[in-house]
Amino acid sequence: MLRTSNILRNSSRRVTAATSLKSFRFGSTLAFIEASNGQISSASLSALTAAKQLGNPIIALTFNEGVADSLNKIEGLSKIVTFSSPEFEKNAPEVISPILSSLIGDSKLDISHFIIGSNATGKNILPRVGALLDVQPISDVVAIESDKVFKKPIYAGNVIQTVETTDPKTLLSVRPSSFAPIDTTATANYEIEQQATPELNKLNIKFVSENLTSSKTPDLATSKIIVSGGRALKSKENFDNLIYPLAAKINAAVGATRAAVDAGFVENSLQIGQTGKIVSPELYFSLGISGAIQHLAGMKDSKVIVAINKDEESPIFNVADVGLVGDLFEIIPELTEKL
Ligand SMILES: Cc1cc2nc3c(=O)[nH]c(=O)nc-3n(C[C@H](O)[C@H](O)[C@H](O)COP(=O)(O)OP(=O)(O)OC[C@H]3O[C@@H](n4cnc5c(N)ncnc54)[C@H](O)[C@@H]3O)c2cc1C
Repeated sequence: MLRTSNILRNSSRRVTAATSLKSFRFGSTLAFIEASNGQISSASLSALTAAKQLGNPIIALTFNEGVADSLNKIEGLSKIVTFSSPEFEKNAPEVISPILSSLIGDSKLDISHFIIGSNATGKNILPRVGALLDVQPISDVVAIESDKVFKKPIYAGNVIQTVETTDPKTLLSVRPSSFAPIDTTATANYEIEQQATPELNKLNIKFVSENLTSSKTPDLATSKIIVSGGRALKSKENFDNLIYPLAAKINAAVGATRAAVDAGFVENSLQIGQTGKIVSPELYFSLGISGAIQHLAGMKDSKVIVAINKDEESPIFNVADVGLVGDLFEIIPELTEKL
């Protein structure tokens, strides 16, 4: 069960994570580690930072066996738990959620908290685990006040809600842009506990294949600079000819509004906003973007926002640190050339 109180966001665009916590230090935190090709995802590195703030011993659980070396570069874990089966490697939520819920519910393990990054994987897994355990999960946490009290945005980030859980288990997903990735330069030698593979024939679903879009530009989730384009680009050809060369010049990731995605300028995975990705790079270029509330929900925590729009009344200028009123078809080529 959750108790809530809402506070309107103050004029500052940023939310600062709590630094001092009153933790009761019971139980352990089970941190879900997502990885591919031996690399821990940035969302999981942020989840580990949040797990440290909870103050409990941290058990890192991964279904990607090859990641143990990377976990040994992180300080402060209590142990690593792995499952060995290629069935699990893709983190298919239908397959691994029942396994996670049985681990969290196992009284011998004394897990008080489960934590996962709030990316596509976390959004797929957390509600399932909550339903299986009959526990209300707390999603998209941006600050940890204590081991029972958390802050999370609602109404597309315009209100910050403080929630207190009274459930016996606390299930959390944390917004990666609100918790810096944990340091990965330590040298540790953790105990690795390999769990027996559960009987897969009891599961009525299995991973068959995936079709990933490959991109030559840096990853949106980790890039320090993002160049984002909107409907004003008018066509895929214009988007390709204006946005990508600018991004390439400054080694930036490419993003887009939903209007640009719906118009077919770029694929869906590049959408930033309430129903897309949440990002907080050092520098965000907003090019031909009006600044609709749903788009702002995904990028307003960027450190510096540069907006180019021909309409000086455009709401994007309310959040921009640097604003330029003008035609992007003239400004972007000039900017790209001069950089
Ligand atoms: C439930 C829901 C969820 C949504 N989720 C998202 C989401 O996740 N992400 C998202 O982005 N949107 C989302 N939207 C859509 C959102 O409401 C807006 O429609 C969308 O963000 C607008 O995209 P845009 O800024 O590219 O287009 P527009 O709003 O059409 O703005 C285009 C801007 O370009 C400017 N412009 C035009 N020509 C030029 C030029 N030559 N040079 C310079 N500037 C120019 C115009 O002045 C205008 O400000 C969602 C909507 C709903 C209802």
